[in-house]
Amino acid sequence: MSKYIIPHDHIITKENRQAMKGHKSCILWYTGLSGSGKSTIASKVEEKLFEMGMHTYILDGDNIRMGLNKGLGFSEEDRKENIRRIGEVAKLFVDAGIIVSTAFISPFRSDRQMVRNLVQPGEFIEIYVNTPLEICEQRDPKGLYKKARAGEIKQFTGIDSPYEAPENPELEILTEGRSVDECAAQVIRWLQQHHYIPVEEPALPNS
Ligand code: ADP
Repeated sequence: MSKYIIPHDHIITKENRQAMKGHKSCILWYTGLSGSGKSTIASKVEEKLFEMGMHTYILDGDNIRMGLNKGLGFSEEDRKENIRRIGEVAKLFVDAGIIVSTAFISPFRSDRQMVRNLVQPGEFIEIYVNTPLEICEQRDPKGLYKKARAGEIKQFTGIDSPYEAPENPELEILTEGRSVDECAAQVIRWLQQHHYIPVEEPALPNS
């Protein structure tokens, strides 16, 4: 970094922003095979959080690969850079006091660890969406497995590129045989139990 780039001490801090919103900010980092349910669960969790008055945002392939990371491909180097930039953007959202979700396969442990290291302890919540490959392949919501099996897509995670499952994720979601709603409720419960978001008080009976 240039010695002439001197950080400015802003008056309003992350803690001020969190206090204003009434919840902590963090990264909900969903990882798992293509079709495991990352985007679907992230979206349902966001819906529930939004209804509870929490401030949220989702970073996904649509808004990242089409914009900030438009120039990046799928080489090993570019995949790494893709995750690094997503991590840096997510960090800014945490600073802004927002609960930010990311829904990317992010198959490599070292890349996920790199993002974890960018933020403070407790701010990176790794959510392993654990769905067996056979189920993901049956679901094939975007027809990508079919293309990968036909050799039209190379280096497809789970087929001819590895997926390194998290060893110690904060949360593991088994989706097989469970509804999206149940899976999303598991995330909400975890956030409440770990005091990231308030527990809604039951309404007091009329006295
Ligand atoms: P990813 O973002 O991991 O690539 P998607 O969310 O796009 O995966 O697709 C997951 C597919 O699996 C969707 O079609 C979704 O409806 C289906 N699905 C079935 N059960 C579940 C579940 N319990 N959780 C999440 N998705 C599920």
